[in-house]
Amino acid sequence: MSKFSIFSLVMLIAMAVVGFKGDARADKQDNNNAKPGPGERYCPVHPSDEEVARMESDFESREENLQRQGAAEATGGVINVYFHVVNKGSGIANGDVSAAMINDQMNVLRSAYASTGWSFNLVSTDRTTNATWYNNCYGNSESAMKNALRIGTADDLNVYTCNPGGGILGFATFPSSYNSQPKLDGVVVLFSSLPGGSAAPYNLGDTATHEVGHWMGLYHTFQGGCARQANGGDAVADTPAEKSAAFGCPGGRDTCRNITGLDPIENFMDYTDDSCMFKFSAGQDSRMDAQFTTYRLNK
Ligand SMILES: [Zn+2]
Repeated sequence: MSKFSIFSLVMLIAMAVVGFKGDARADKQDNNNAKPGPGERYCPVHPSDEEVARMESDFESREENLQRQGAAEATGGVINVYFHVVNKGSGIANGDVSAAMINDQMNVLRSAYASTGWSFNLVSTDRTTNATWYNNCYGNSESAMKNALRIGTADDLNVYTCNPGGGILGFATFPSSYNSQPKLDGVVVLFSSLPGGSAAPYNLGDTATHEVGHWMGLYHTFQGGCARQANGGDAVADTPAEKSAAFGCPGGRDTCRNITGLDPIENFMDYTDDSCMFKFSAGQDSRMDAQFTTYRLNK
């Protein structure tokens, strides 16, 4: 009936879609996501404090509605994945990643999310040769590329590989963006960040893990810096606040001295090397469940 573990028809009750518009994705007006140096991880999915407040308020009211209706929450399931390879010609140098690399990427995702109850099923891979899309997939060609290639509904994951440029390793849309911009929904990663690619130390496949984290509703662990109000920062209670992104693998880093806990450098939602990051917290797992249920499940 449903591919997801738990669901409820009650959820179909009119969640009167309040014209929520939020393309928080590319906003650079704050913030503590200053563009790092050459060769360092960069992901532009870092909304301003105002956008976070708006998204969290929408999320809270929808969650309350679901709870009032007695709707069950999905706590895991198998997400269908549609992989789109956008290249500028044949061969890995032109971004034409191999089926083996895609397969390895899928396994990295499954392993990274194993403890959360979520898994991923590769349904199809398509390949498009278009040098313009390949080089402008972050920016001018994003919309054309996604409008042409995206498959499925809100609970289907579309992954694009291309060459975003500007030092960007990947970017993604939040669950709450689906309603207003369904065709833009998905995850884009630098082709060479796939396992076996050339983007060392970011070539073990965790850029996709990180971007899928955004797609599941997570913020960066350094979102909001050292702010730690009830719902501030990254809106997850068990990821200690950190002032800014961490690079490399700086064990013992503690950038918010007045807040308990070392920086979560081994968390997939920080900026450390692929070999350094290996976990999602229990709080992130719960948030992904709630975000998926609220904005994606059976939508
Ligand atoms: Zn990110």
